[in-house]
Amino acid sequence: MKRNHIAMAIGAHPDDIEFMMAGTLALLRRAGCETHCLNLASGSCGSAEHTAARLRAIRRREGQAAARVLGAIHHPSLVDDLEIYYERPTLRRLAAVIREVRPTILLVPSPQDYMEDHTNTSRLAVTAAFVRSMRNFATLPRRAPIPGDLTVYHAMPHGLRDPLRRRIRPGAYVNTTAVQDLKRTALSQHRSQMSWLETSQGMNQYLMTMEQFALEVGRGSGRFRFAEGWRRRLHYGFCPPDADPLRDLLGRDCLLDTRYEAALEHPETCGCAERHESATPDQARLRRPAKQDARPAKPSMPRAARPE
Ligand SMILES: [Zn+2]
Repeated sequence: MKRNHIAMAIGAHPDDIEFMMAGTLALLRRAGCETHCLNLASGSCGSAEHTAARLRAIRRREGQAAARVLGAIHHPSLVDDLEIYYERPTLRRLAAVIREVRPTILLVPSPQDYMEDHTNTSRLAVTAAFVRSMRNFATLPRRAPIPGDLTVYHAMPHGLRDPLRRRIRPGAYVNTTAVQDLKRTALSQHRSQMSWLETSQGMNQYLMTMEQFALEVGRGSGRFRFAEGWRRRLHYGFCPPDADPLRDLLGRDCLLDTRYEAALEHPETCGCAERHESATPDQARLRRPAKQDARPAKPSMPRAARPE
């Protein structure tokens, strides 16, 4: 029997999902998926204004409000900020939630990101999903193992770069233009993250940052105004090698970068088309050793993504 898709987004902190994943989650909801949100950490260090206890409560309410905007089911956090470690108790608890939710699509942070809470969330979420059907892995509370395929997608890192400043290129672009307003509204539920002055001016720096990321990924697609980027995880332990429910469910709103896919097979090309493609004058310039020019290379447009 064909299962309906269930999509689950797991972020590190309240608002991480709204920054990098919420547009895709909203589109999956429109495509008929049941959707879920879980922020692993409580947001307890995200303000100098309140005690940790007060802030936990505030940010939980804000996270719930954002999930409501997105039409997603909200799950409570498991630990505090800066306490997301790749260790057994958190893994057991997260694995229990995954067995309860039974996702078929899992949206998780980038394996490379600017802070350890994010990268540890990525690792914990992947392993908690990996053990979903293993009878001898004890979850907390105990939940029966679940069968079924699940496809894991990694979101773009904050700033669209890895911790060593290298630009990360997605393998798939999701067109979030139609849900950009919704994404903005969801992010704006996190009021504790905006200063009163910024709030009073409406479009503040906080929202602008999210908007800039979406515009930059959109530019990289060469087709969409606003976009979110994804990299599909290797299938081992999860699903058939070619399973790609984002592509199947989102249709024309999901654009695969054929150059990225080709580079997966031939790592010597490493996806950096600017440096490896045969020579236009521009590309030859990019290939020369840097002449004190620290500016980042403009991301090249994947062939499949050029505006038609
Ligand atoms: Zn975060």
